[in-house]
Amino acid sequence: MHELGITQSVVDAVCERADGRPVRSVRVQVGALTAVVPEAMRFCFDLVTAGTVAEGARLDIEHRTGGAHCRSCGTDFTLADAILLCPCGSADVAVTAGRELQIVSMEVG
Ligand SMILES: [Zn+2]
Repeated sequence: MHELGITQSVVDAVCERADGRPVRSVRVQVGALTAVVPEAMRFCFDLVTAGTVAEGARLDIEHRTGGAHCRSCGTDFTLADAILLCPCGSADVAVTAGRELQIVSMEVG
């Protein structure tokens, strides 16, 4: 479960920014290509926030759809998972969205 390490880094960053103030909520953006399962991330969030200023905080997960551009046929298409193949069959694609994994906002106090 790689969500544990990822969530730990998110919570570490949140606690550092909170600087001792209680954290009420955290909003993260998670791209489809990160292979992060939202339910697993929530579970890990509850685990790693225990005993920190972020304990009991609400975790909002913003899911971002993946997208790619095919260099062979020029099509822009959406990616449901990490399989980088254009519908035309080409693997010469550039990922344009879906690798996001960032904290977009947090509420403290
Ligand atoms: Zn193509």
